[in-house]
Amino acid sequence: MYPSYLKPEIACEKLLKKLHVKGISDRRVLDAFRKVPRHRFVDKALFDQAYDDNALPIGLGQTISQPYVVALMTQLLELKENEKILEIGTGSGFQAAILAQFSMRVYTIERHRELGERSRRLLRELGYHNIVFKIGDGTQGWPQHAPFDKIIVTAGAPVVPRELTQQLAVGGKLLIPAGNRQVQELELYHRRENSIEKSTEGSVLFVPLIGQSGWEE
Ligand code: SAM
Repeated sequence: MYPSYLKPEIACEKLLKKLHVKGISDRRVLDAFRKVPRHRFVDKALFDQAYDDNALPIGLGQTISQPYVVALMTQLLELKENEKILEIGTGSGFQAAILAQFSMRVYTIERHRELGERSRRLLRELGYHNIVFKIGDGTQGWPQHAPFDKIIVTAGAPVVPRELTQQLAVGGKLLIPAGNRQVQELELYHRRENSIEKSTEGSVLFVPLIGQSGWEE
């Protein structure tokens, strides 16, 4: 249970005010945060920190991302109804739950079985039926379900995996932190008919994307 002296709704509203001040202006993103109980995605011992604007450990050396970064990435994707989204790095499942508020179907891949299974169980319990889970190397994407309208990578890559740009629909967007292991740039790729446009959206720090087209373990 969430400690009774700290109402999650109140803690969440305080967090949303901070996110708004930091530049999260898309009401739909802020509303999505109201609907997803972040405290359920962290260990009970961290409940009282669940609505701080910080990344938190989720085991196996991995983290649930900082709320501001989740909100920023969601806002940058400019999600529309009925889109098909691919997420690489399920982790706690929090970002997948936020994406699931907007889209027809979210496909999410996690390389650690324990984390992927835990998230699957939690998201089922919370009533999400439009999220499809896979345990495996997300750097290879999920070709059986491609093309995707949006692809979001929530681990830091050395370079953008070609497999992911290939699985992006025309008109689609791919958001990925790319750089070295200490710092990455948030890169946004917009696929046009015959070209791909790139913009950079600021520095971030993510755990590494490990896999065939990512970092070595
Ligand atoms: N989106 C997550 C959330 O909301 O909690 C945050 C994810 S955490 C920052 C990054 C996750 O990416 C970790 O759980 C890590 O195990 C996973 N990961 C790293 N490389 C991966 C790969 N090649 N395929 C799938 N998952 C990967």
